[in-house]
Amino acid sequence: MIDFSKIISESNLYNFHSHTQFCDGRAEMEQFAQAAADSRFTHYGFSPHSPIPFESPCNMKFSDVDKYIAEFNRLKSLYSDRLELYMAMEIDYLGDDWGPASPYFDSLPLDYRIGSVHFIPSKNGMVDVDGRFESFKNKMAVHFDNDIRYVVESFYSQTNRMIQSGKFDIIGHFDKIGHNASHFCPGIEDKQWYINLVNDIIDNIISNKLTVEINTKAKAEHNKFFPNEKYWKRLSDAGITIVINSDAHYPELINASRPEALTSLDRLRSN
Ligand SMILES: [Zn+2]
Ligand SMILES: [Zn+2]
Repeated sequence: MIDFSKIISESNLYNFHSHTQFCDGRAEMEQFAQAAADSRFTHYGFSPHSPIPFESPCNMKFSDVDKYIAEFNRLKSLYSDRLELYMAMEIDYLGDDWGPASPYFDSLPLDYRIGSVHFIPSKNGMVDVDGRFESFKNKMAVHFDNDIRYVVESFYSQTNRMIQSGKFDIIGHFDKIGHNASHFCPGIEDKQWYINLVNDIIDNIISNKLTVEINTKAKAEHNKFFPNEKYWKRLSDAGITIVINSDAHYPELINASRPEALTSLDRLRSN
């Protein structure tokens, strides 16, 4: 088990969330490792979108898992004198039948697991609600009868169920639905019912002593961190371990908006 709080107390140059050729990342693992070494990172984790039991363009195929492990082992020794590499997965929670707690993942030599919700149930099966807004808007009509409240509530109830089923080390971007939802319905994140849903998740995070990430992927383009900055104080005051991850899909973005998040977090802690 990795001691994230120890790592982040010793280094600001780390990232535990990244995607490569094995899922929807835009470069090879080696290019990310090289970028991390060039930027003098001390710790770098690969977290491909896990295999899931149906076809999905963003997720790693079951048949690629062995290749992923072999490539990781090659890079781990190649870079051993420069930085610590970790082999992880960002595991999709789909429901009782598939998620970080599924026995399949026990068979893999993963250093840690990120648990994330990208899919929620619809009348037509599981639907990925994490993508670009244009695609989200289309799915809202096709799969959800434009019922944004259902989509938001379903995202958070899946998240709560994932927390109950456990077996992950970092909870990924736990309020990310707020991004597409607030495009669809401006101001939704300021509604009391919405805030209550997020606070319920935070209650659960605190009672389960989870490690949380601040995900900086959308900061440059959409001026948003996940979770929203307004929730950081609650997490920090409760002593929750907070890692700052770039969720990089491009090697040049491994540190994108991380320094800004670190500064904001430090400022809030010193007030
Ligand atoms: Zn994700
Ligand atoms: Zn990711």
